[in-house]
Amino acid sequence: MNLSLASPPRTLFEKIWDQHVVMPRSAGPSLLYIDRHIIHEGSFHAFKDLRARGLTIRNPQQVFGVADHYVPTTSRDPNDAITAEIKEVILKFDDNMKWSGAHYFSIKDPQQGIVHVVGPEQGMSLPGSVITCSDSHTSTHGAMGAMAFGVGQSESMHVMATQTLWQAKPLQMRVELNGKPAAGVGGKDIILAVIAKLGVAGAVGFAVEYTGSALQWLSLDDRLTMCNMTIEAGARSGLIAADDLVFNYLYGRNFAPKGAAWDQALREWQQLPSDDGCHFDQTLSIDVAQLSPMLTWGTTPDTGLAIEGVVPDPSALSDPHARDAALAALAYMDLTPGTALSTINIDRVFIGSCTNSRLSDLRIAADILRGRRAVVPGIVVAGSMLIKQAAEAEGLDKVFQAAGLEWREPGCSMCVGINGDLALPNERVASTSNRNFVGRQGPGVRTHLVSPAMAAAAAVTGHFTDVRTLMGQQ
Ligand code: SF4
Repeated sequence: MNLSLASPPRTLFEKIWDQHVVMPRSAGPSLLYIDRHIIHEGSFHAFKDLRARGLTIRNPQQVFGVADHYVPTTSRDPNDAITAEIKEVILKFDDNMKWSGAHYFSIKDPQQGIVHVVGPEQGMSLPGSVITCSDSHTSTHGAMGAMAFGVGQSESMHVMATQTLWQAKPLQMRVELNGKPAAGVGGKDIILAVIAKLGVAGAVGFAVEYTGSALQWLSLDDRLTMCNMTIEAGARSGLIAADDLVFNYLYGRNFAPKGAAWDQALREWQQLPSDDGCHFDQTLSIDVAQLSPMLTWGTTPDTGLAIEGVVPDPSALSDPHARDAALAALAYMDLTPGTALSTINIDRVFIGSCTNSRLSDLRIAADILRGRRAVVPGIVVAGSMLIKQAAEAEGLDKVFQAAGLEWREPGCSMCVGINGDLALPNERVASTSNRNFVGRQGPGVRTHLVSPAMAAAAAVTGHFTDVRTLMGQQ
């Protein structure tokens, strides 16, 4: 037997990459075929350039527009946008999408939602596909077994005009998650722990594949949350090999293959998981059974700590740059070293964003809030109209409202606040979103990233609380 003829074992990412290279280059970027490209209202720059150059969308059937970043969450009427300029952006997107001939989920569409929620929900995000979107958190779609990455507006224009993109092949990182997570610990806690280990630049230049026994205990929503935030460690993509959980979820969805095409696709998808013996440039292992519910204390997503912890002391850091950054973060967050995280009071909660606005996220939050009252204001923003409808069918909206929280229409909302959903200056927010940067949720606003369960727990106690102490007590 001539072993030299056998193809070397490849990772999931490498298999997808190899299938999509149109023009390989031994050095520098290769030209990749893009299966599906998703855009939002911020695409006006790309459309302006495209139209100015006399170009059109090369393949409208592979482009999807979703209105989410600028839309009001108080209604489905663009006239309720906070400013005339924001309304103009929403209407401009309507105009551009009509011109493009591509699929469009407008603010009034019954299947509208956040780009990274709508993609999997509509079956746009398929195993083995290459997906681009003009939003940083495009890595979310990697949970469906896809290679997905965010692009800027000029790259977005390139994809719309050519259905291809020049990309440098990243290195391969495996994050092995073993053990069964404790009750009260979910995908958000796990990814905050991963980012805390890696740091915000620890995965720069890598595609990260999650493997390990813990995956069997995690829902698809948990996986989407983890891939979503993988870019907060600097990675280009996060991905997980598709299995029956993904296949069953996708079956029959709008843009998934049907009939014989489904059978054929399924056979191909089942060949995609990383081969035994494939090479990863770096491996990180985490025993998730040891994790507690997490929250961030600082102004970068890698500042996650277990709820039992205390605010760290920057003077313990030997690196002067890290020490200065930690001191600046503490000053902005108005925190003192040694303070128990569970004693930090909050002013507001936000349950939503493409990280944590899916049905299981809402169910988990509602389980904590049921029969209790929030002592701080807050909003709950479902990830899509379909999720909102499903949540209402289960009565979750009533649980949130009875607890004193607002139940809003789908959109990015307080994740980024472009639509005006912002906290007040100096407020401290327990937020299920993905970024705690300075000013992300408004000038002077202090954002702590948490899971939906931890956000709900903080809402009812008024301070960060180990959600496990509230579980099953109602
Ligand atoms: S919710 Fe936030 S991260 Fe997600 S698509 Fe919207 S702005 Fe981007």
